[in-house]
Amino acid sequence: MTRLILATRNTGKITELKAILADAGLTHDLVGADAFPDIPDTKETGVTFAENALLKAHALARATGLPAVADDSGLCVDVLGGAPGIFSARWAGRHGDDRANLDLLLAQLLDIDTPHRGAHFACAAALALPDGTQRVAEGRLTGTLRRSPHGTNGFGYDPVLQPEGENRTCAELSPGEKNAISHRGKAFRALVPAVRELLG
Ligand code: IMP
Repeated sequence: MTRLILATRNTGKITELKAILADAGLTHDLVGADAFPDIPDTKETGVTFAENALLKAHALARATGLPAVADDSGLCVDVLGGAPGIFSARWAGRHGDDRANLDLLLAQLLDIDTPHRGAHFACAAALALPDGTQRVAEGRLTGTLRRSPHGTNGFGYDPVLQPEGENRTCAELSPGEKNAISHRGKAFRALVPAVRELLG
């Protein structure tokens, strides 16, 4: 069975990606990057989600000699011209401080009325082979930003993004409900044909 390395050490994300890829019918042996503790994390120096996802996938494929998939994602707010975008994880300054990032975003949008609170989560999913072959696919989850956090599921900006056609935020959806419509789900499902094409 072909081994496929997932470029993340986050166990929650590994579980989520395994579920998405298995639901999409992939039968490959999926292994998280935590199985390779000596390989350093890649610096995300790209200026787009796709560039960063490809950087991470290529670095891992080179280092392990195995096919690797990686993603990069974030929240793009219409009225902020697409920010925080690739800077979503460190919008308030410290990488991964979800609460501070969320509080800063809500403060920045305090005076913005509902019709102008459009936003989307974006995700690029990349596949890289050790020989340099690459494929990338993208997905979006579009919605509106609420004025205060609602719900306790998920992470990051989930408590404020209400998907189009929903009256709940992403943090009020079950993991299965979110995977079915999420930017990550869409991007990885769109990548599956390329995985099949290149790896069988
Ligand atoms: P990364 O792609 O895992 O580095 O995620 C970048 C950042 O974007 C996260 O730290 C979150 O702030 C935000 N983000 C990405 N996807 C989601 C999501 O599904 N829900 C909430 N926030 C997200």
